[in-house]
Amino acid sequence: MEETDRKGKNGDNSKAFEDGDPLALCLSPPSCRPNPPTPPPPLPPPSPGPSQHSFPPPPPPPPPLLLPDFISVPSSAASAVAVAADPPARPLRARRKHSQGPRGAHKSDTVPPPFSWATTRRATVHSLNHLLSRNIKNIYGDAQCKRCEASQVISYDLVSKFNEVAAFIRARKHWMHDRAPAEWMTPAFPDCRSCGQPNCMRPVVAAKKRSINWLFMLLGQTLGCCTLDQLKYFCKHTKNHRTGAKDRILYLTYLGLCKQLDPAGPFDR
Ligand SMILES: [Zn+2]
Repeated sequence: MEETDRKGKNGDNSKAFEDGDPLALCLSPPSCRPNPPTPPPPLPPPSPGPSQHSFPPPPPPPPPLLLPDFISVPSSAASAVAVAADPPARPLRARRKHSQGPRGAHKSDTVPPPFSWATTRRATVHSLNHLLSRNIKNIYGDAQCKRCEASQVISYDLVSKFNEVAAFIRARKHWMHDRAPAEWMTPAFPDCRSCGQPNCMRPVVAAKKRSINWLFMLLGQTLGCCTLDQLKYFCKHTKNHRTGAKDRILYLTYLGLCKQLDPAGPFDR
């Protein structure tokens, strides 16, 4: 089938040439000698692209009066060419601009604080000093059993739990190499009071990222329950470098939160 097709095309040398098939070009002279009267011009290789379709005739030289419109004239001519080559490209981009402008708009940096220990800035909590001065000493959050799905509110003592995390970091930071250790990647959970299963009360991670209970998961050292996407959200809104595998992003999240609580602590990367 291809053969006959090619033969058919070869009847018209210029067409084969236009198709840009070098094989066809090479093959045509021996087999197609019957048609010598129209030898392909050897030189016009640049022609295939542009000559495929006729250009819109160049706009007549604009009279001086049209000068103010000059910018729009060439751009519309250019778009005519682009549309011929790749129709969806332009209109799509233009449309996206329109529909996404208002909706996808850039989200405001401030949100209603989802918890009394959170600030109005996304993924940001108050410092330890601030919280204690406000008499906020317990941080709580929802947990749900992996087995029986019973829910439970878990409360952590802010200072003692934070000191645990801080001590862990202080002791191991130099050999974590900017990556979350196994304890953070695969967190341990409290036991379930309902079904008695050990290690199964997972923190409930809010579906809306702005409502995630970051401090609760820091204190329970269960931030590893967050998806990579949620952790990237944290890093994005706290101006942290945020590429890499989950263990890197998780590490940055732990240190970032500790830094928010204790800005003077040893929590720089
Ligand atoms: Zn249970």
